[in-house]
Amino acid sequence: MSSDLQWKGYAVEDTKNWDQFKVIDFKPKPAGDYDVDIKIAFCGVCGSDVHTITGGWGEPHLPLIPGHEIAGMVATVGPKVTAFKVGDRVGVGAMICSCMKCKLCKEDNEQYCPESVWTYNAIYPDSRTLSQGGYATAIRAHERFVFPVPENMKLEDAAPMFCGGLTVFSPLVRNGAGPGKRVGIVGLGGLGHFAVQFAKALGCDEVVLFTHSDHKKDDAKKLGATGFVPTGEKDFERPLLGSLDLIVCTADVASGIPLKELLSTLAINGRFVMVGLPDEELPSMIAKEVFSNGCFFGASKIGSKKEVLEMMKLASEKGVKPWTELLPMKECGKAVKGVKEGRVKYRYVLKQDIDS
Ligand SMILES: [Zn+2]
Ligand SMILES: [Zn+2]
Repeated sequence: MSSDLQWKGYAVEDTKNWDQFKVIDFKPKPAGDYDVDIKIAFCGVCGSDVHTITGGWGEPHLPLIPGHEIAGMVATVGPKVTAFKVGDRVGVGAMICSCMKCKLCKEDNEQYCPESVWTYNAIYPDSRTLSQGGYATAIRAHERFVFPVPENMKLEDAAPMFCGGLTVFSPLVRNGAGPGKRVGIVGLGGLGHFAVQFAKALGCDEVVLFTHSDHKKDDAKKLGATGFVPTGEKDFERPLLGSLDLIVCTADVASGIPLKELLSTLAINGRFVMVGLPDEELPSMIAKEVFSNGCFFGASKIGSKKEVLEMMKLASEKGVKPWTELLPMKECGKAVKGVKEGRVKYRYVLKQDIDS
């Protein structure tokens, strides 16, 4: 791997003009023994990309290339890489490195490692290089954060699984989704449409979709939802009081979450897990409101490699795949705008169009 390597990608230069992208050249971080270089074929457009380039999560490092739902082919491997070889079909999600040594990394919780490195907008602790994402020609990642794509899955379908899919798969399996369980999913967007499919594929008895968009009923059914609850309706929670074992909340805008009502639909000690990360504060609550069913409120951060492998196996066996709108990568500005305005059904995937 040569050190004067230059890659190209679509970058935002200013958070005020967050839908204006310009092709820039960039240097990846110095190659490590365990690094894999991937020639990018597709990249999904995640809500995180929008939160980051708009400055919603704080001022990003600029110019910045977003994108962390990456699929492509292995182009080069470091001398100690054992899991992959040149030409393998692979993907990368929201992280590209961690310390590999701490308790969290050793116990399949590497996504919570304090030294983890985000796929973009992160500074590598050793080389001080800025990580740049997948709206680009290539990416370099530690092999632990590179995932194989099953043979029967298209690369463009696999790409959104590595963040969107994993972000909902992990809290479902960690909180017992499966036969005998009744699960609620809040929101039918990029994450929600995966959550409904995975809850179904995991064998849950019931999968109830809560949404403020009542026109999504047909889609919810096609994806596998057994119940559809428009949260804009008064007393929507009443028929479900105390009935659900788990709710995974994918809502991305805090003001619209009817938190108190949703929590009341949980069974005793049921769990409510946030996976969306709205820019604003959540609605406030008083303790008494979670008293009657002793429910738990929590959150979940992407997932581990172990869970990626389980997820891809299940998806490949049960035919879980994202509903995508494919765009050439140069239309990334249109894509991020579509995500911000909630127009996508349900994931944009960008197709490589830069000659490298
Ligand atoms: Zn993401
Ligand atoms: Zn660690």
